[in-house]
Amino acid sequence: FLIVTPTRLITQVGREEENIFVTKAHSIYQTINEVFKAILEKNLLGLRRLELNSIYEISRLMTSIVELDKVLDLIANSLIIIYKADLCFVGLREGDKIRIAQAKGEHSHLLTGTEWPLVQPLIEQVFSKVEPLSLSLEELRTLPGLGGVEVTPGTEIIVYPLWSALGAVGLLGIVAPISPDDNGSKNLQIYANFAAVALANATFIRRLEREAETDFLTGFFNKRSLRNMLFTELERTMRYGTPLSIIFVDIDYFKAYNDTYGHVAGDVVLQKTAEIIKNSIRSVDIAGRYGGEEFVIILPGTEKEGAAKVAERIRKSIETYPFPYRQVTASLGIALAKNNDSADSLLERADQALYQAKRQGKNRFYLDPS
Ligand code: GH3
Ligand code: MG
Ligand code: MG
Repeated sequence: FLIVTPTRLITQVGREEENIFVTKAHSIYQTINEVFKAILEKNLLGLRRLELNSIYEISRLMTSIVELDKVLDLIANSLIIIYKADLCFVGLREGDKIRIAQAKGEHSHLLTGTEWPLVQPLIEQVFSKVEPLSLSLEELRTLPGLGGVEVTPGTEIIVYPLWSALGAVGLLGIVAPISPDDNGSKNLQIYANFAAVALANATFIRRLEREAETDFLTGFFNKRSLRNMLFTELERTMRYGTPLSIIFVDIDYFKAYNDTYGHVAGDVVLQKTAEIIKNSIRSVDIAGRYGGEEFVIILPGTEKEGAAKVAERIRKSIETYPFPYRQVTASLGIALAKNNDSADSLLERADQALYQAKRQGKNRFYLDPS
């Protein structure tokens, strides 16, 4: 069987997109079908042509996908199919190490998630060249996580460095029962080059997306992504009838702090406050920087009483933290989502509650009574 599915429900895509999908799926089907047919008929010349054809199809697909997970899946899966590899793994460069982001086939569970420092002698060797490196089993076993790996004698182990214009993107490893001939090696190299470009694009886009939703100073979600998440959480709350609270946090007399001690000192207060908030909430809670010195925390599954406890914990931690120059305090407003709430009406009530906390003398929390 070959099952090709669209990434979105067919009912959500337009007629034209559906047609393109069906055409693409059909051409993938034909290619794979012909590969299998040629293998069966041992038609080696035909197989070579089809191998190129599959690389062509897959590279086209690969460079048109922007989601990193899907690119990784496609690379690993298609290598298993085209080269009948026993094991295939893709490592992504993350700073000074390579993290195995995808592995398919035998022993893949040992590999996924392992990290190899770039200074590891073997990895250093892989990236000292443009060409692939053939490894012995003993060499393979020196890599972290692969100590106990077993392969049948005669198995070919090849690691390709993946280069893009921006430098090393990662690596591609193939463990296959037969070594590719000259043509096969060239095809694999072409394939690796495409994989490098596709991975470079996808990781770049993912980084841009992350940066677009994160506040640079605190690492918290920014206003836009926080609002998006609030929409989602509210929908869930309405559907399942679970509670949802939000807390607005605003630092007291922050303008004066900035004016007296400078913006750099003010930034430190913002960063430290974000850290205090992060340490005071659960992993399912969502915190974001809503404005200059304002933070919003979304607490799914939490009633007012629970939210008040969190708010008080944050208030107290800020009040007692030894900030440079002088004590810093914050005021907090809490609101519980109601049935007909929109993101705006809920935020508005939490903001009003915050205003009440300020009016009553700051350094306190106020619970929206409605
Ligand atoms: P209140 O006690 O009523 O909350 O008064 P406040 O002074 O804290 O509030 P106000 O809204 O008057 O001032 C907020 C200040 O936050 C203004 C600005 O100097 C500062 N601010 C906003 N964004 C940043 C930032 O990114 N870095 C720094 N250092 N300060 C910022
Ligand atoms: Mg403010
Ligand atoms: Mg303030």
